Amino acid sequence: MPSAYEYTKEELAELLAGEPRYRVDQVWRGLWTEGQRIDEITTIPRALRARLGEAFAPSLEVVNDVQSDQGATRKWVFRLADGATIETVLMGYDDRVTVCVSSQAGCAMGCTFCATGQAGFTRHLTAGEVLEQVMFAARAAGPRRLSNVVFMGMGEPLANYKVTVDAVKRLHEYRGMSARHLTVSTVGVAPAIERLAQEGLPLTLAVSLHSANNATRDQLVPLNRRYPLERLHEACVNWVATTSRRLSFEWALIDGVNDTDQALDELADYANSLRAHVNLIPLNPTPGYLVRGTSAQRVRSFRDGLEAQGINVTVRNTRGRSIDAACGQLANVTNAKRRSIPVRSA
Ligand code: SAH
Ligand code: SF4
Repeated sequence: MPSAYEYTKEELAELLAGEPRYRVDQVWRGLWTEGQRIDEITTIPRALRARLGEAFAPSLEVVNDVQSDQGATRKWVFRLADGATIETVLMGYDDRVTVCVSSQAGCAMGCTFCATGQAGFTRHLTAGEVLEQVMFAARAAGPRRLSNVVFMGMGEPLANYKVTVDAVKRLHEYRGMSARHLTVSTVGVAPAIERLAQEGLPLTLAVSLHSANNATRDQLVPLNRRYPLERLHEACVNWVATTSRRLSFEWALIDGVNDTDQALDELADYANSLRAHVNLIPLNPTPGYLVRGTSAQRVRSFRDGLEAQGINVTVRNTRGRSIDAACGQLANVTNAKRRSIPVRSA
C-alpha cells in the first residue's frame, strides 16, 4: 500500500472522485497542514476515513527513537515497507526548527570518513518516503513550526535527483515552505548541480568539499576521481551564475589530513574564487575511520585563518553526537548500548 504522501493533490482528487470537492481539501489539510494520519482526520466522515485507511499506509515505522542535547536533538530510525532502514534527525534551535532527512537508504559514494558511506547502498527513497520524514518531524516538533529542511541525512540527494527535486517542489507547494529554507547537500555530482541550477528553485546548495587538493580529495571522496576539483568548480560557477544564490562548502576537519596550513590556503583560494561560505564541521567519530577529528583549538585557528583571508565561515556544532545523530554518523546502528535516552514515539 502506498503512503498518502506519495500522492499529488490531483491524484488524491481522482481517488476521491464522486465525493464533494471540499473533501479533497479536508483530507489535504489534514495530511499537509496538520500532519495527521488518515484515522485522525475527523473532519471527514468515518466511512471515508475507513476507505482511505485501506488505500494508504504510512511508509515509516519507528524502530528507534532517541534524544540528546536536553531533548533539542531527536533521532529516529525508521523501517520502510521492504525492511530497509533510514534515519531522520530533528534539531530545535532558538530561532528555527530543522529536520535533516535521508534521500537514500545507505549511500553508494563511499566517502571514507562517513558512516553511511562505510555501510554501502541499499536503495533510493521515493518522494513519499522523503516527505513523510518531514511530516513526521513536523508533527513531533509539536507547537513549534518546522521551518527548515536539510537533505543531509543518509544518501546523496543528487544521485536520487528526480525524487529530491520533486520533494523540494512539493514542500514548497504543499507546505508553503520557502525554498530558501531548504538545503540540498551534495558530495559534488557536477552534472546534477548544473541540472539543478536550471530548475529555478531558490534553494540553498551545500557542497561537501573537505579538500581542495585532488590527491587528498580522491582519498576522502572517491567521486572526486570522476568529477575532480576543476570540473566541480565549473559546476559551482554555473550554479552561482544561474541562480544568484550563495554557495556553501562543507569541510569536516580531520586531524593532519585537511587541517594543515596548506589545506587552509587551498580552501581559501577555492572558496574565494566562488565567494562561497565555508561551514567547518569538527569530524564526528565513525566506526570505520580511525582518524581523529581536529582539536577544538585548531578548529578555532583554522576558522580565524580563513576569516583573515576574507572568507565567511561558520563552525557547525556537533549536535547529536552522543546518539550517533551527528553529520556522517547515520548508519542504523541501534543505540541500545549507547548513552542515549529512549523516548516514546510521537
Ligand atoms: N551525501 C551528501 C549529504 C549527506 S552527508 C553529502 O555528502 O553532502 C551530510 C554531511 O555530513 C556532508 O557534508 C558530509 O560530508 C558530512 N559528513 C560525513 N561524514 C562525516 C563525519 N564523520 N563527520 C562530520 N561530517 C561528516
Ligand atoms: Fe554518501 Fe554524503 Fe556519506 Fe559521502 S558523505 S558517503 S556522499 S552520505
